Amino acid sequence: MENKEIVKLNGVYKRFPSGKTEFTALSHIDLSFAGGEFAGLVGPSGSGKTTLLNIIGSLDVPTEGTADVLGKRVNDLSHKEAALLRNYGIGFIFQTYNLLPVYDVYDNVEFALLLQKMSPNERKRQVMEALDWVGLTDKVHSRPAALSGGECQRVAIARAMVKRPRLVLADEPSANLDSKNSHRIVQTMKQLNRDLGTTFIFSTHDEKVMQYLDRIIYLKDGEVERDVVV
Ligand code: ADP
Ligand code: MG
Repeated sequence: MENKEIVKLNGVYKRFPSGKTEFTALSHIDLSFAGGEFAGLVGPSGSGKTTLLNIIGSLDVPTEGTADVLGKRVNDLSHKEAALLRNYGIGFIFQTYNLLPVYDVYDNVEFALLLQKMSPNERKRQVMEALDWVGLTDKVHSRPAALSGGECQRVAIARAMVKRPRLVLADEPSANLDSKNSHRIVQTMKQLNRDLGTTFIFSTHDEKVMQYLDRIIYLKDGEVERDVVV
């Protein structure tokens, strides 16, 4: 399993315009993550978790400081370069699953591969393998409306993993799930972390997720309050 540093944030600030002034969502964040980590950002609503994940995911840039992700400096990427980094290197899992309702499970997962050059046979193999990882091969032709919340989130995990990214970012992945499904989806991600060495960074304030994490970074008012290896 790799343990080289794959994310490094140095002196990161994020400020958003707020009326005539600015709102500081992140302050002097210095953090790094090694390949293979299973780590979480924990803090109350508004503490800056999503803002930080967006910067690590190259969906946003720091106002000040630098963010290096998978060997690229996020600050300096063009839109096209950032898209390329995400397409090949980073999987995303969201609180609300973000599945396309008119497509079935297979299409929702395959969608993540359509921007990569690959034969249809190879693509099918990768989609079916990703659905196998999350235990959903029997739901391949179901649409999201016919699935439970836990199943929808497992489709989203398959969609994030189908590219075999080195890094997966999960923004409050259990927020809409009951206890049993919360445990199941985190166990699934932990298994993928162990088997494939994929690095996971979560945001959460769910105790059920926290108990599986190897490292917890507590955020408060946009600052790192504590960084604990458990
Ligand atoms: P969390 O995910 O921990 O709930 P966020 O990162 O979403 O926190 O937000 C942190 C703070 O930054 C909040 O006060 C939020 O209102 C503010 N914020 C986030 N995004 C924007 C934006 N695009 N424009 C203005 N303020 C924002
Ligand atoms: Mg958030």
